[in-house]
Amino acid sequence: MSIVTRFAPSPTGFLHIGGARTALFSWLLARSKGGKFLLRIEDTDRERSTPEATEAILQSMRWLELDWEGETVFQSARADAHNAAIDRLLETGRAYWCSCSSEEVEAMREKARAEGRKPKYDGRCRERGLGPGEGRVVRFKGPLDGTTAYKDMVKGSIAVDNAELDDMILRRSDGSPTYNLAVVVDDHDMGVTHVLRGDDHVANTPKQILLYQAFGWPVPEFGHVPMILGPDKKKLSKRHGALSVMEYEKMGYLPEAVMNYLARLGWSHGDQEIFSRQELVACFSTANLGNSPAVFDTQKLEWLNGHYMKQAEPGRLAALLREFLSREMDPAELEDVPQALLLAVTPLLQPRARTLVEMAEMSRMFLVDAPYLAFDEKAVAQHLTEANTTLVLEFADVLEAHQGAFVEEDLEPLAQAFMAARNLKFKAVAQPLRVALTGRTVSPGLFETMRVLGKEQVLKRLRRVTEL
Ligand code: GLU
Repeated sequence: MSIVTRFAPSPTGFLHIGGARTALFSWLLARSKGGKFLLRIEDTDRERSTPEATEAILQSMRWLELDWEGETVFQSARADAHNAAIDRLLETGRAYWCSCSSEEVEAMREKARAEGRKPKYDGRCRERGLGPGEGRVVRFKGPLDGTTAYKDMVKGSIAVDNAELDDMILRRSDGSPTYNLAVVVDDHDMGVTHVLRGDDHVANTPKQILLYQAFGWPVPEFGHVPMILGPDKKKLSKRHGALSVMEYEKMGYLPEAVMNYLARLGWSHGDQEIFSRQELVACFSTANLGNSPAVFDTQKLEWLNGHYMKQAEPGRLAALLREFLSREMDPAELEDVPQALLLAVTPLLQPRARTLVEMAEMSRMFLVDAPYLAFDEKAVAQHLTEANTTLVLEFADVLEAHQGAFVEEDLEPLAQAFMAARNLKFKAVAQPLRVALTGRTVSPGLFETMRVLGKEQVLKRLRRVTEL
């Protein structure tokens, strides 16, 4: 039997990093077994669900390339199926109408608590044979004894005494179906065989299993992934930094880095850290999902991103670089920047930039004309002394006279010869040149920087030293 997994977010906000990880594990489980991965938007809470949140979830899924089969299912469109299922349970005697008010139910719970029992509905209406009526709900007629047990893909064997479980409400007094009922009907109708979700749902699973049994449907496999914690071991929250997947996009992370990072957060394969998408699919198994909460580590994500920045195809990064520059630069100014220049700059910055934001920032000095280059005052004071300024100007003359190609292979021997003739070490001119060309003491290699800037721009920059 081919396996079918799903991701079933409630569209009440952006897709957070924990939700994305759950989606990723479900996606990997399907892809690793040649199965199907489905998406269901659980938008039954009309007050809290918004189309913007649905769009934000879809956008994050697309960015991470978590592709799903078929149409996106909207739970709100399935009310008829949910109601038909509830009616079926009523007909087969597995559900009943209940007229108890919420005050009455609260009083039952109170009483149970006072008597040291687990607070629950006491089954008052189970055998009353009530029909529909104003203010009535439909409850599940759960078994009174026995246990409901299953083997969780992550947590191992789980069993609860049925006597501990409430006769859960299936249809509210306003006629709307409840979460547990809707999830079971939807997962069954969508053919879901494996449910991987956050462990905030672990208490729902025995109730859902009882529903499957009452319907006479096969019970899927369940797995509950522990939550993600911040470095202080508290539940990951806003104060630990970004939570939404798309915030990571904005901070300049590559989707493959986020994917790799999330996969390793609570899942392992030996001590391997770096996984391509294909490797994740090939290696994934629920057997290696960890059962203890994972701690979010921004530095590791940054390190992984640096790795993927180095690996990425320059043409792709150059296009992303333009996109990131466009978020900050005047459009007219950016329009004047040829893509060929960005393509030449990108490989110089790939080993240095850990994020696309850093890359955009580092690339700015290549894109401005000499008079607009910003200088680090301290670097100017330290390296562009009078004597060094003279050297820089003399070297500019040497470069101007050079007729060959303006590439590292020609420029480096030229600089070596220039220094040897003056009995100086190469280092003595490298930093002054770097500061004159880039405005800073740290930059990509001097000669590759010169090549990318081109002869005309290099001469302009070097000859500006007199004005600094
Ligand atoms: N809609 C639920 C949530 O976002 C998930 C339900 C499920 O995965 O079964 O928490």
